[in-house]
Amino acid sequence: MPKIIQISVPPEKSFEEEYIFHLALSKSGLYESDVKDWYIKKRSVDARKRPVKIQLAVALFEKGEEIVSPLQDIVFKNVANAEPVHIIGAGPAGMFAALACIEHGLKPIVFERGKDVRSRRRDLAKLNKEHVLNPESNYCYGEGGAGTYSDGKLYTRSTKRGDVNKVLSLLVQHGADPEIMVDAHPHIGTNKLPSIITAIRETILNYGGEFNFEHKLTDLEMEKGVLQRLEINSSKKIETSELVLATGHSARDIFELLHRKEIKIEYKPFSLGVRIEHPQELINSIQYHGERSSVYLPQASYSLVHQVDGKGVYSFCMCPGGIIAPCATEPGSVVSNGWSPSKRNNPYANSGMVVEVDDELTDAYASFGPLRGLKFQEEVEKTCWEAGGKTQALPLKDYLILYMERTV
Ligand SMILES: Cc1cc2nc3c(=O)[nH]c(=O)nc-3n(C[C@H](O)[C@H](O)[C@H](O)COP(=O)(O)OP(=O)(O)OC[C@H]3O[C@@H](n4cnc5c(N)ncnc54)[C@H](O)[C@@H]3O)c2cc1C
Repeated sequence: MPKIIQISVPPEKSFEEEYIFHLALSKSGLYESDVKDWYIKKRSVDARKRPVKIQLAVALFEKGEEIVSPLQDIVFKNVANAEPVHIIGAGPAGMFAALACIEHGLKPIVFERGKDVRSRRRDLAKLNKEHVLNPESNYCYGEGGAGTYSDGKLYTRSTKRGDVNKVLSLLVQHGADPEIMVDAHPHIGTNKLPSIITAIRETILNYGGEFNFEHKLTDLEMEKGVLQRLEINSSKKIETSELVLATGHSARDIFELLHRKEIKIEYKPFSLGVRIEHPQELINSIQYHGERSSVYLPQASYSLVHQVDGKGVYSFCMCPGGIIAPCATEPGSVVSNGWSPSKRNNPYANSGMVVEVDDELTDAYASFGPLRGLKFQEEVEKTCWEAGGKTQALPLKDYLILYMERTV
């Protein structure tokens, strides 16, 4: 096991290898001649007080010790003739399920309702420039799912999410910057994701998996509660008694299909809110105590949590130097999300500001059973569209005045 040494350095020194090594060495009690190899294991910003510092965890390997690379080398098998596994949805869940199949010697056959990354780009351009939404090819549907044009922030507050290091290694294996293995808050950036998704698809194809774009699951044929066949594009039938359903959160038609087929689904509590935008420099100056003079400091982010009348209100998916994106999958509804390029160099920061949706809010939809949250969400999305149409944004002050007028 390496010796892990924690050091704190000024931002301008945080990429100077010689300086970092010798500082860590001086704290370790080792001589330089004792050390066989070393690397930076974690890097994070400590902005709790001025001056802002960078915290580093440095791994020092002594002579005679096995060097353990943080990067895992994932080995795949050729599965062209292996037992097939049908996967619906080529989002992050579907793609990683396909990779897991290959690792375990099974042949993934992926069906995706949207288009491949390249063709999908044209539909997004049309959406952004002409406000024309293609319900089958948009920010959420298509190769890579909502993940392709997501921000690519790769951290989770949960500690029970399996082998995070393996996921990061797979992304690096497919073109992500190796720094994601080191940063405490790793971020890929939307400009980099499409090529990573394409590389993952190529791995899946090279090892014998299959992709079928513009293939939408339209029905599940059941007999006595057991799956018999998949129906694709309302015509093609595929015999199977098992499938991996990785259709994500936006595919409301799938939740409705499952409910219709009496497949057990449960209402899951969720949060809902608005996306708020502010100048990035304002966030930098607040978080870095008015002193972001150093180019070595990343664009600052924030995370807010508050309780109002017993309800949790919190910021979500904060995108420093980012853009707000229209992420609806159905015409006539408003859904917004945020992304940022790898350099996070847009002048505005944005963040979701959400509140927990409790039973009281969804009571009016109780007759929809497990779909009640979905129906409530649909209603809010449509109401916002009717209120604002294509103009989906307004100054925060106006929003708050409107809110006060309607509630007081
Ligand atoms: C703009 C934006 C920014 C985001 N930023 C981040 C971030 O920084 N970090 C983060 O962790 N998360 C982020 N997210 C959320 C993240 O993208 C999703 O949590 C993630 O994509 C969910 O993966 P999934 O595979 O479960 O579902 P999805 O990505 O929704 O993929 C589901 C796939 O299934 C397909 N599908 C649906 N129905 C059918 C059907 N009937 N037949 C065939 N195919 C079907 C869809 O077309 C889609 O490709 C962001 C999302 C957006 C939109």
